[in-house]
Amino acid sequence: MKASPETLLRSDVAVVGAGAAGLFAALVAADLGAEVVLVTRSPLAQTASFWAQGGIAAALAEGDSPALHAQDTLAAGRGAARESAVRVLCEESPARVHELEQLGVSFDADRHGNLALGLEGGHSARRIVHAGGAATGRRITRELSARAAVHERIQVLEPAAAVALWTHDGRCTGLLARRRDGFELPVLARATVLATGGMAALWERTTNPPGAVGAGLGLAEAAGARLADLEFMQFHPTALRTGGARDGFLITEAIRGEGATLLDASGERFVDELAPRDHVALAIEAELARSGERAVSLDLREIDMTRFPNIAAALAEMGLDPARDLVPVAPAAHYTMGGVATDLDGRSTLPGLLAVGESACSGLHGANRLASNSLAECFVWGRRAAVAASAEPAPPPVPGPAPAPGPPSLPPESTRAALWRRAGLQRDASGLRDLLDDPFPLARLIAAACLAREESRGAHQRTDHPDSDPALDEMHTLVGGGSDPCWERWQ
Ligand SMILES: Cc1cc2nc3c(=O)[nH]c(=O)nc-3n(C[C@H](O)[C@H](O)[C@H](O)COP(=O)(O)OP(=O)(O)OC[C@H]3O[C@@H](n4cnc5c(N)ncnc54)[C@H](O)[C@@H]3O)c2cc1C
Repeated sequence: MKASPETLLRSDVAVVGAGAAGLFAALVAADLGAEVVLVTRSPLAQTASFWAQGGIAAALAEGDSPALHAQDTLAAGRGAARESAVRVLCEESPARVHELEQLGVSFDADRHGNLALGLEGGHSARRIVHAGGAATGRRITRELSARAAVHERIQVLEPAAAVALWTHDGRCTGLLARRRDGFELPVLARATVLATGGMAALWERTTNPPGAVGAGLGLAEAAGARLADLEFMQFHPTALRTGGARDGFLITEAIRGEGATLLDASGERFVDELAPRDHVALAIEAELARSGERAVSLDLREIDMTRFPNIAAALAEMGLDPARDLVPVAPAAHYTMGGVATDLDGRSTLPGLLAVGESACSGLHGANRLASNSLAECFVWGRRAAVAASAEPAPPPVPGPAPAPGPPSLPPESTRAALWRRAGLQRDASGLRDLLDDPFPLARLIAAACLAREESRGAHQRTDHPDSDPALDEMHTLVGGGSDPCWERWQ
């Protein structure tokens, strides 16, 4: 059903998505005086933000500094992280943690009442803040969504999906939202902020909720914006391999930090469990290829599971007792380093359109995300984009011709299987060329980006180009938006 002109919604800022990035951007913009429309498709429990177990990285400890945090982030990015974006994140993340506290998020404290700072792989200092132990994402999204629901300048459209972006004279002027009953509502805005999350659920095995299929990337690309670094998909080494509802459930590496071991089919260790995430994932992949098994075993028998109650609960649901049973695990697609190409304020290449959180690619993560930098990114860029969006020029008084229908929102199952097979932990040109004919547009763009990067770096491992090419340091692949793939150097 189409909306009549009087049902057109006018706002200053339209935000799509109510995970950590979208909620925070909406709240900041509204507090700056903007009228905000927040369009969200799914209940909170279906955002990656809700599931986040670890925490937020911020250089808050004595002896730590944004410079040290930046050093670690650049090392994880393997020569492909954009230095200016890394500086922004590391310098601004501590202030965002304090801002969240002022908004009512209560982070875990030590016995002196100071923030309890955790240590995670790849970080050279204690700098991870948590809320409710492993419930950080849940606590933050709960607090922020309660605030957004009652904010006088935020109108929430839920459940409603953005199905196309409205463009006029080369700028984005809003979006078309579709409610579950099929009713379509144009939303006019000076700026539209995509906060639609990543695309890891496009792969057959994933730790992400099913809605993480890159909806915002598809909308942005169809409207003419460019996408960057789609070849960099981070695979988590230890996701449950049980089939059923809990398949893909993430078992944090913190548990390996506590002494959990990985065992092959004959019960022997085969990898340094504390090596970087991509090394462990590749070692498991090689072991599975060698043995022909579907999973390796995670041995938790010596672990005090009271420290990991959410994992114990998920295992119990699958009938597994970690004190007795070996737990079957295998790698799964986890985090999207690429996304809608943006500048340091979240502006995309299409004027009036911004992107934040996991849907965006500012170049911050390079070829590998450092753990807990992604929630930090949601808040740092959430604020920056809200400020930039509020300053965009007013939209035209009428929306102009209706946008062309957006891209399909869901991939066929065959696409998910093909991405897993052709663009999994290891890829080569011949498999990637097959993907260029996939029916799902985003899969074709991923293939184009993977093909363009003829090297191996971080999360992008080409068996036909096993080495890194120093000429591609700091280089980012841009695809879509109606132009051929090209390279840009981002510093
Ligand atoms: C299991 C797990 C554990 C993690 N642990 C951590 C951690 O400890 N620390 C860390 O830093 N990161 C962690 N991450 C990554 C981090 O959680 C995400 O990068 C981050 O939460 C992404 O937030 P977001 O707001 O960008 O997207 P999301 O939280 O995914 O939210 C996306 C929103 O967009 C909506 N949406 C999508 N398409 C549309 C559309 N067309 N129309 C309307 N709405 C739409 C969705 O419904 C949802 O509301 C983890 C991820 C997972 C999956």
